[in-house]
Amino acid sequence: MRRGKEGSSSKKCPCQTSSRADTTHSIRNCVALLKNSIERMPWRLYVHQPYNYWFKGKACILGDSAHPMMPHQSQGACQAIEDAAALGIIFSNKYSFTGDITKGLELYQTIRKPRATRVQSASAKATENLNERIGFTSMTAPDAELAAAEGKLTINEMNGYKMHYHIEEEVLKMSMA
Ligand SMILES: Cc1cc2nc3c(=O)[nH]c(=O)nc-3n(C[C@H](O)[C@H](O)[C@H](O)COP(=O)(O)OP(=O)(O)OC[C@H]3O[C@@H](n4cnc5c(N)ncnc54)[C@H](O)[C@@H]3O)c2cc1C
Repeated sequence: MRRGKEGSSSKKCPCQTSSRADTTHSIRNCVALLKNSIERMPWRLYVHQPYNYWFKGKACILGDSAHPMMPHQSQGACQAIEDAAALGIIFSNKYSFTGDITKGLELYQTIRKPRATRVQSASAKATENLNERIGFTSMTAPDAELAAAEGKLTINEMNGYKMHYHIEEEVLKMSMA
């Protein structure tokens, strides 16, 4: 048993070679299970192109409604949470956007749309090519650098992001415009 850096544990499994008979048996079991299941439905996945805008007047969209994505980066809910966090920060007491909702939503779109669109696109790429998947903690630093240089989405890019700073920067730009 090995203890991972993050408190997880892993166990080395013995290598198994499965015979044709084993495989046939497994398939029969699967078929039997399917026969006993109810309401079997195909799970369709659709690639959506990024939408032109996420807000109109005082209304906005967030989460899957704003950036529906393929599941292959496991980032859909993460991006929905980031959307909610951005709205929370923008409309907090730190700023005065509650006095101008449309301006606040414009900032929300500026902050969130490019990042979510990048993840949306990376998720579509990972559907076709496993090498496009973000590396999680198993990616070594040099590998992560190489992937980033190739324009691939990396876990460092996802986890190293500082939304508070990003919003501060954009608010500063707005005040100087
Ligand atoms: C199998 C699977 C695995 C996933 N794994 C991951 C993962 O590991 N990591 C990750 O980050 N993401 C993952 N996701 C993606 C994630 O679940 C979604 O991106 C996330 O749930 C989006 O949240 P949301 O609030 O935008 O939308 P939803 O969770 O879809 O919520 C929308 C809600 O609105 C309700 N609704 C719809 N229409 C109406 C209406 N007219 N009136 C009232 N209510 C309505 C719906 O019933 C639903 O409850 C996974 C998704 C699936 C399906």
